[in-house]
Amino acid sequence: MLISSMGVTSNAGRVLSGRGKKPSGTAPELDEARMAELARFTARSLSTSRPRPFGAAIIHTKSGKLLLRALNNVAQEFDPTAHAEVRAIRLATKRLKQVSLAGFTLYTTCEPCPMCMSTALWASLDRVVYGATIEDANKHCNQILLPATEVVARSDMKCTVDGPVLRDRCYGLFTDPRMLKAFRLWTTRKRT
Ligand SMILES: [Zn+2]
Repeated sequence: MLISSMGVTSNAGRVLSGRGKKPSGTAPELDEARMAELARFTARSLSTSRPRPFGAAIIHTKSGKLLLRALNNVAQEFDPTAHAEVRAIRLATKRLKQVSLAGFTLYTTCEPCPMCMSTALWASLDRVVYGATIEDANKHCNQILLPATEVVARSDMKCTVDGPVLRDRCYGLFTDPRMLKAFRLWTTRKRT
């Protein structure tokens, strides 16, 4: 599977389950297997001219089928809202021609920012599973330091937030030398 110029891949129908295990939707080993797959997908961007540590995937909660994956595309689209999670949600609702993503789970290499977590709530996603934390990301780029669980707690909507899952693996996307070099060009880079 190749990363398209838009930083999106589609793999509809593929079942992301653990080795030899039936997908139950919430088993920790399934979350780790899916996060590892997402980290691999996101890491491919490190070899391109636009490395990005942020990737997101939307998976059918019960079947484990992958709907789609997306990368952060802020610089490419000149869109400060083009975070991986928001893009994945927008692409999924458009593809399904429905505004609700109830029955789906969002995996993301980093804890969603308040904008992305809010979008997940408005989309009625079942669960959000994240890798690195907002604090991890904040070592390299600006963040709004509001935990995803706090966004959920202050809303009328329900969404289970689980993480960190494979935190070190996902944080490794931020500390890869190619990514550290790329951060110097980010308008949202952390200035210390
Ligand atoms: Zn975000």
